[in-house]
Amino acid sequence: MSGGFESLGLSEELLRAVREKGYLQPTPIQREAVPAVLEGHDLMGGAQTGTGKTAAFTLPLLQRLRGGRHHPGDRAVRALILTPTRELAAQVHASVCEYGKHLPYKASVVFGGVSMERQIAEFRGGVDIVVATPGRLLDHVRQGKVRLNAVEIFVLDEADRMLDMGFLPDIRKVMRELPQNRQTLLFSATFPDEIERLCDKLLKSPRRVQVARKSTAAESVKQVVIGVSQKGKHPLLSHLIRTEQWRQVLVFTRTKARANQLTKKLVRDGIHAVPIHGNKSQSARTRALAGFKNGEVQALIATDIAARGLDIDQLPHVVNYDLPNIAEDYVHRIGRTGRAGRKGEALSLVSPEEHEHLTGIERLLRRKIPRRTVEGVSAPPGGVSEPPKQPQPGGRGGSSAGGGRPGVNAGNKSRRGGRNRWRRRR
Ligand code: AMP
Repeated sequence: MSGGFESLGLSEELLRAVREKGYLQPTPIQREAVPAVLEGHDLMGGAQTGTGKTAAFTLPLLQRLRGGRHHPGDRAVRALILTPTRELAAQVHASVCEYGKHLPYKASVVFGGVSMERQIAEFRGGVDIVVATPGRLLDHVRQGKVRLNAVEIFVLDEADRMLDMGFLPDIRKVMRELPQNRQTLLFSATFPDEIERLCDKLLKSPRRVQVARKSTAAESVKQVVIGVSQKGKHPLLSHLIRTEQWRQVLVFTRTKARANQLTKKLVRDGIHAVPIHGNKSQSARTRALAGFKNGEVQALIATDIAARGLDIDQLPHVVNYDLPNIAEDYVHRIGRTGRAGRKGEALSLVSPEEHEHLTGIERLLRRKIPRRTVEGVSAPPGGVSEPPKQPQPGGRGGSSAGGGRPGVNAGNKSRRGGRNRWRRRR
């Protein structure tokens, strides 16, 4: 097939694995990055989750690891992939295993929060490819459990997020362990000055490949804003999940505490919700994600960091319960839906206090996100800061859901006090 994976120069073992994954055509980032990496170039990849970037670096990486696999007892790894979060590390590792299933290499994943012993045992057995978060990898390096001085290919995935999370000192330490003579691939959704400076240090005459932002490219994501007060958010979300029968929704909150609170409220409403954030143990996070993927968990309530890089196919609904402070994060978040051309909806619940963030996001997107109103429950952003007009007939206070009756509890106290029911305006 012209323009298909066959035209990229990949070996038969890799093409077979790709076919078995069911991919028909390479995504734009794969089409550009795979040949460049196969030719041995360093790479600066402007791409975010959802674009197929993992395969874009994993497939050529697997092909460039020449020769057979390591001998047991050799603690030098040949390819290193650094990711900012545990979830992303686990997902990239799973991709490496899948794409490399017809090749002899051994891949291992290394992150904190789980026992080091199993990881050490794996290193002892000889590992070719390591996917790791920086902190735990450095622990192993310090203890002499793994050597990085024979790394042939180094991948820094989601570099902007790594820096946001304060990993720059760790990245520098890892860089000091790496040999000069290596191939380096850096992926980042954005390229602020700090990343450009890092690229200068890390990369040699890199090829630049850039794919359009998800927000501009993915017309498959329907973006909508609903204006609602802070207090009205939970009843509104509960109402939408039930009345529109959402079976799988990823909800973003600004903080871990808000993720926990919202989860409790939704559970009280009879919605199977589970939080996923940095305070949860690794096993709880893995369980939550597995439950969400297999359809047991209806709503996964996540903070940005925990949700980073979650690989969830065909996610129909993403809700910004709180708008992110950083406009770029909005783009990352909605990248979880409408993937690989599938339809998805990204809904933002915007309170008057968040209006500034919304403006920032719309500036970044260079377009206005369509507004939607829900009868009796919400008002357009901007309108909600006015005191509600209608007293709430027979309404009760408290934080339980609207019980299928939109508007009953939604925003039952205005910001200026008093129990009120909102009316749709305009
Ligand atoms: P990524 O950007 O690497 O997180 O990939 C996003 C999603 O797209 C993952 O679920 C991949 O399995 C999927 N994917 C990657 N490449 C392709 C492709 N060529 N065709 C269809 N789906 C793909």
